[in-house]
Amino acid sequence: MSYFDWFVEHDRKHHQIIQKLKAQGFFGEAIIDYFVFENMVEKEPHFCLLYANKQKCHDIKYLNCYLCACPHFRFNDEGIAVKESVLVKSMCAIASKNASKFIYDNIEHLDCSKCIVPHTKSFVLKHFDEVWHKVMRECITSPKV
Ligand code: SF4
Repeated sequence: MSYFDWFVEHDRKHHQIIQKLKAQGFFGEAIIDYFVFENMVEKEPHFCLLYANKQKCHDIKYLNCYLCACPHFRFNDEGIAVKESVLVKSMCAIASKNASKFIYDNIEHLDCSKCIVPHTKSFVLKHFDEVWHKVMRECITSPKV
């Protein structure tokens, strides 16, 4: 699945959950709390592939899924840059010290597995918007190659 396809599909799933919660009277912090990993595994098993095995993307006690992937994630399926003949398709906008990368098929991808920035409650509170793609509006970058 391309980055773009994942983005569109995730936005659709996120939107459906928000609409359901709002119809039930949820708002603000109650919505954020609903997106805590343990609750999502139970109530929204199709939101993330990892939920099937009750597997967290990060080995941390508190994990909030509201802002998965991350507002600082930047991608373009056509490529953001070319470095030493390697096509870069994703990167971290804030150059997190916990960001790493991997190269597969001559394509470089950002690896966020050691960064918990978007999964903390304080981060979600700071960037909260009921419309997921508004928070993520800078994620899709223009192709630069
Ligand atoms: S490395 Fe961290 S801050 Fe950067 S995009 Fe990934 S999760 Fe976000």
